[in-house]
Amino acid sequence: MATPMFEIENLHASIEDKEILKGVDLTINKGEIHALMGPNGSGKSTLANVLAGHPSYEVTEGSIRFNGEEILEMEPDERAHLGIFLAFQYPTVIPGVSMANFLRMAVTNVRNARAEAAAEAGREEVAKITPREFRRLMKEKMALLKMDDSFATRYLNEGFSGGEKKRAEILQMALLEPTMAILDETDSGLDIDALRVVSEGVNSLAGDEMGVLLITHYQRLLNYIKPDHVHIMIEGRVVQSGGPELAGELESKGYEKLRAEVLATA
Ligand code: ADP
Ligand code: MG
Repeated sequence: MATPMFEIENLHASIEDKEILKGVDLTINKGEIHALMGPNGSGKSTLANVLAGHPSYEVTEGSIRFNGEEILEMEPDERAHLGIFLAFQYPTVIPGVSMANFLRMAVTNVRNARAEAAAEAGREEVAKITPREFRRLMKEKMALLKMDDSFATRYLNEGFSGGEKKRAEILQMALLEPTMAILDETDSGLDIDALRVVSEGVNSLAGDEMGVLLITHYQRLLNYIKPDHVHIMIEGRVVQSGGPELAGELESKGYEKLRAEVLATA
């Protein structure tokens, strides 16, 4: 069998000596959209942070492999260079930096690192990106995502609505062309506009080459994005996996009933 693209195996992680992830197993292949759902406090955002290499979390057991390579010891930027994209409600306001400038820096860093790695390995297929190419690429991606040109000249996060923050995030993802995209969509912040941006973005960017891990509390998002696989996380473990029907089942049953069933069989 071929090596899975992204493989999380028996992952345990703690914060301040409190174990949050208690053995997560999850495999995502190229072209697949996976939704990870679960009640508040089940460890979904912790998983996203650990996958990103956030320094506050300590991985005590298990592994995270990307194309067969262990990435646990890698810094967040090294993970990004490999083609892993992690989107959060991160950046705070960065005064005086336009969207275009911020994205150009982010994309140039990743593209140039990939180009250097390819050159070292004797491959030439990844070229460094020039400012002119960047502008062309940004125009192309903004058109694909139906974004207004004026968005590029906005200052980063200054007065951004929930939907605009999501737009910035999705545009960044489009430009970085990741092979594995991890999106943590927290319950707040997702008004109708934001919901639309995220779902249209994922739907137009997902394809044969990209794997997606979409983390969400609400079933609502899955009315717009059709995942191939749905996983339920409860108390730091993936307790159930299935197809899209699992999300619907969850909505009618609720997490409490599911939690009770899982605890009863544990
Ligand atoms: P979810 O995203 O599924 O709502 P989280 O991963 O945010 O869940 O939280 C899982 C558990 O980890 C919760 O019990 C939460 O209180 C705890 N936790 C998360 N972040 C921290 C932190 N920085 N310090 C201490 N405990 C934390
Ligand atoms: Mg969360």
